[in-house]
Amino acid sequence: MKVYKFGGASVRSAEGIRNIVNIVSKENDNLFIVISAMGKTTNAMEVVLDFFMKAEHESALQKLLEVESFHYDIVDQLFDNKTIGIETVKPLFDELRMIIREGVGDDYDCWYDRLVSYGELISTRIVSAFLNESAVNNLWLDMRGLLVTDSNFREANVRMEESQIQLQKAADFSKSRIYISQGFIGANIKGDPTTLGREGSDYSAAVVGNLLDAESVSIWKDVPGILNADPRIFENTVLIPELTYLDAVELAFSGAQIIHPKTIKPLENKHIPLYVRPFGSPTETGSVIKATIDKPIDVPILILRKNQVLITIRPRDFSFVLEESLSKAFTVLNKHRLKVSLIQSSAISISVCVDNTRYLSGALDELGNEFKVSYNDGLELLTIRGLNDEIVKKTTLGRNILLKQRTRRSGRFLMKEI
Ligand code: ASP
Ligand code: MG
Repeated sequence: MKVYKFGGASVRSAEGIRNIVNIVSKENDNLFIVISAMGKTTNAMEVVLDFFMKAEHESALQKLLEVESFHYDIVDQLFDNKTIGIETVKPLFDELRMIIREGVGDDYDCWYDRLVSYGELISTRIVSAFLNESAVNNLWLDMRGLLVTDSNFREANVRMEESQIQLQKAADFSKSRIYISQGFIGANIKGDPTTLGREGSDYSAAVVGNLLDAESVSIWKDVPGILNADPRIFENTVLIPELTYLDAVELAFSGAQIIHPKTIKPLENKHIPLYVRPFGSPTETGSVIKATIDKPIDVPILILRKNQVLITIRPRDFSFVLEESLSKAFTVLNKHRLKVSLIQSSAISISVCVDNTRYLSGALDELGNEFKVSYNDGLELLTIRGLNDEIVKKTTLGRNILLKQRTRRSGRFLMKEI
């Protein structure tokens, strides 16, 4: 069997969903399809949630109506028989309205997962119904009963063994050749909905691939495959046809937006190849990530991670930092969900580079209890793999470099954004 994953951009319009029919109808193997919420639905549901948490139920319902009409527009363009479309979507919005009217927003993260997970439930219902209408028979599955996670709401960890039992039972391909289910969502053992972290659908696809022993996982994207740099930022980008799992992990860790960093491990563990394929031209091969590759990558790879902050901490009493302070500092950063993308240490200071998220100020406050803390924001982190002097000069020209780390093959440059 194979796993296909379609992201929010692929399902943001009726045309995209028709293209899914086109792609899926060409596949003769057993297929498990993982789908994200449509377009920017997750962002919109976050707004609904924020109103709900402030007990502004009317505004929450108003925003929900916008989300609903966006979906109805698509449904309207897809189905000739309008009642099918409405019957598919309306019950889910009715459920949401009831939850919003009756619920009291206490625990933010828990409510986030309960409400925002509907984005994926709705999109998969629509795609499944439309595929069935188009004679591509499939069964819809609710991941909240299949992907078992812990209760770390909004960033839940999958419990592989329990999930495997559920998933193999539900998707044994005896009742259908094609299953459709949601990326990004699962549930804890009590059945409370959970989510796996923003952009987590790639990870869901990889986990499903692992648990069902897929022969491959394909992520369909609105890019030609994996490029050596983001074409919106750099010129003359080229496609990298083959990468190793290690290449891919490093790229994802450095901030390449192409795949979610957690995606690689479940695939590497079972040597399942991951294809990154162009949604707009499905006959092209795109890129593949696998254990060994025939031709090593021979172009420099550039990754620019924006909106970075460099935090420097020093113990208040001038003591050496490394041992104890390092672990204390990382515990605080971890607690505040800040992911460290670079570390530098000296005798009495540690500097770490993290994404500037809404958790930053909480972490700075807590670090300040223990350490002297200073920070620089508005930075960007450029990672170059396979670097040479010329490319370093070209990409860092005129920039104020705050920190530099170089190994034989790679370089990382923390610079002021311009
Ligand atoms: N819908 C979720 C998000 O936008 C998950 C995903 O798209 O991968 O973050
Ligand atoms: Mg997405």
